[in-house]
Amino acid sequence: MRGTLLIFSGPSGVGKGTVVKELRRRSDRIRLSVSATTRKPRPEDVEGVTYYFKTMEEFEAMIGRDEFLEHAVYSGNRYGTPAGPVDELLDAGCDVVLEIEVQGALQVMERRPDAVSVFVTAPSFAELERRLRGRGDTTGADLERRLRTARTEYALAPKYDYIVVNDRVERCADEVMAILTADKCRAKYRLDLLKEDD
Ligand code: 5GP
Repeated sequence: MRGTLLIFSGPSGVGKGTVVKELRRRSDRIRLSVSATTRKPRPEDVEGVTYYFKTMEEFEAMIGRDEFLEHAVYSGNRYGTPAGPVDELLDAGCDVVLEIEVQGALQVMERRPDAVSVFVTAPSFAELERRLRGRGDTTGADLERRLRTARTEYALAPKYDYIVVNDRVERCADEVMAILTADKCRAKYRLDLLKEDD
């Protein structure tokens, strides 16, 4: 069976990355799509693992060759999901997680109606603010900007199939695993089970 394409979005500071790490720890059939971006690498970034780092010209050439499943601008930088590797993994039966922001997520919902979309929130907006402050690397203006972005992201969350809460990473991962399991039980994927002859 072809794997599930899982769109996974949520505001900065909510801990999406940690939840995705936990999902991958639980199953090696769950893979993370590696995006292309024009943003500068951070110390923790590894080319080809966290992102493919591109110049603006390279990124635009990829758009020209129609290589992206979706692409969007976030905080002044461009981000895009290369379609080829995603489809190869799905064909191999892997579930592929797209950890992407909301504008790109809306494009994937449109282009891939079978994709399952999950928006991750903090237990409350006050808790999200607390987590962002706790990061320490955010100045007052930066914090305000992230909170404004989070509000616009929350406004689009009702368009997702599911909303999960990252109160504890393990519990949040349990919810996402349950969503993946339920998706595989959809009647449309199980019609073979209803046949009388095999
Ligand atoms: P960061 O630069 O902090 O790694 O990511 C910034 C935002 O861009 C995050 O919300 C992340 O999920 C999102 N993002 C990462 N890759 C992609 C992508 O390929 N497409 C879109 N639309 N967003 C992405």
